[in-house]
Amino acid sequence: MVEFGNDSRALERERKQIPIQFMAVLAVTLLFPAVHAFAAANPPPPKLILQITVDQLRGDLPDKYMKNMPDGGFRYLKDQGIWYANARYGHANTETVVGHTSLATGADPAQHGMVSNVWFDRETGKLAYNIEDPRYHVLTEGGDVDKSTEIDASQALASTDGRSPANILVSTFSDELSLSSNGKAKIFAVSVKDRGAVTLAGHNGKAFWFSKSTGEFISTSYYYDKYPAWVSAWNRQGKPEVYSNKSWELLHKPSSYLYGDEDGNSGEVDVAGFGRTFPHAYGDSSNKQFNNYLTFSPAGDELTLDFAKAVIDAEKLGQDDITDFLAISFSSTDYVGHIFGPSSLEAEDNMLRLDRTLADLFAYVDKNIGLANTLIVLSADHGGPETPQHWQKFGIESNFVSPADWDKAPSIAKLKKRFGIGQALIKSFFPPYLYLDRKVIKDSGLDLAEVENAVADELMSIKGVALAISSSNLSSNQLPDTFLNRAALRNYNRKRSGNILILFQPHYFINHFNGEVVAANHGGPWNYDTYVPVIFAGSTIKQQRIDRPVEPIDIAPTLAEIMKTDKPSGATGIPLQEVMQAFK
Ligand SMILES: [Zn+2]
Repeated sequence: MVEFGNDSRALERERKQIPIQFMAVLAVTLLFPAVHAFAAANPPPPKLILQITVDQLRGDLPDKYMKNMPDGGFRYLKDQGIWYANARYGHANTETVVGHTSLATGADPAQHGMVSNVWFDRETGKLAYNIEDPRYHVLTEGGDVDKSTEIDASQALASTDGRSPANILVSTFSDELSLSSNGKAKIFAVSVKDRGAVTLAGHNGKAFWFSKSTGEFISTSYYYDKYPAWVSAWNRQGKPEVYSNKSWELLHKPSSYLYGDEDGNSGEVDVAGFGRTFPHAYGDSSNKQFNNYLTFSPAGDELTLDFAKAVIDAEKLGQDDITDFLAISFSSTDYVGHIFGPSSLEAEDNMLRLDRTLADLFAYVDKNIGLANTLIVLSADHGGPETPQHWQKFGIESNFVSPADWDKAPSIAKLKKRFGIGQALIKSFFPPYLYLDRKVIKDSGLDLAEVENAVADELMSIKGVALAISSSNLSSNQLPDTFLNRAALRNYNRKRSGNILILFQPHYFINHFNGEVVAANHGGPWNYDTYVPVIFAGSTIKQQRIDRPVEPIDIAPTLAEIMKTDKPSGATGIPLQEVMQAFK
């Protein structure tokens, strides 16, 4: 039995930092004192920090598809950036809001509180969507947001359209930048997904996301009373219309692709009207699903880029001596991964088009701000699994998990026999958490820990479950120091986490939520879900490929260190020495 926590993790990792660059500088300084005088003048801070998140970009994917990528996008990052090739999240529930908030805050969900896309709110007695906030409402432009068009399963669960960062319990790097400049730093975040933008904008920035019912980039009354003129002007242009009656087609001839002869693999989801094979028709813009189809393809990222360029222009980002912050979260890779899997012709073509979108963005920033004045950081909120069909093809046991089909009756009977109460013990189950009815347990004079552990034991007997662990065990400080226990603990927030965390064995996952079926679904603690790229480029950064293990939560403290702001309030990440060296 070993006690462990973030402190021991930090110490352990600190020891692994090898300050080679520091040694080199020292050697040069001793040999050539004049060089020291020159090197002592710190380069000026960047005019813009551009934080890019690619939703569901597993760490191996850029290299896997790099051979068909020309210059300017990923190749620019590879040839001129510091590329951390061994970055992994340490938390168990690798979902969108969890990863984005960890990137923004440098903290684990245990500290920042965004433990899952959806949790059960014990105060309201209802499931809560991570960033929903009934005190605010969407500022509408072209009509009300029609929730019936919302195909994002977790977003569809929100009971209001109000959004704010209020549920993020700690500060973000963007908050610290805002505090240190007394609000003068301009802070913006843009994404197709609301949670991809709200998280990175922090508490004092401005967030915009894509409305799948109106095809506009929208925000809420938390951020504005009414839209700035440039937002209305962008929305009036009706940019999505460009894709009306067009299709997503392959960029190159099929034979040049790794998956060129595998269009329509088994396992791919057949989205009605969009299909499993190229070309994927967007249909007419009057079609209710039109905007959803755009997000299922590279078009979603292209629109996000277009809106981000409008932000840069209208808000004059990076044009003065006060460092501004722009976060862009590209969501298409996630939707494509969910529908077709990451090893599909669609995912491959999406990567090539994402690469072109990035090249376009970098060229635009270079022209308007200068890449030398811009610090770029790119990462992902999580990786993603293969489809079970794909893994099976390679001899790896894999399958979907289907809680709806679990035979719960024997377990419920056992619990009833032991505690006198069965089904009534369970309040809510929304993966990865199961919530017990604390009132029922208390009123019956039962011991919460005993009930929790008994339910966890029953869950452990289900095929595909790797770990079902109770909150009382997680908060006991008596846990064996295992990989899964660590991941569970780093995801454990006493107020938001359920009574029992359920993790599935490798290559097993749920593919079915609220009537929506997906081909592949992240959310586990295994490498394919936790492995992401962490890349810094632009500014004074020089090319390096770093193989030592780092974590995406190291990004925010690194940015804080470079900008000499306070660390985000819950940050436990460790500043990345190789990046900081470029600013000394
Ligand atoms: Zn996803």
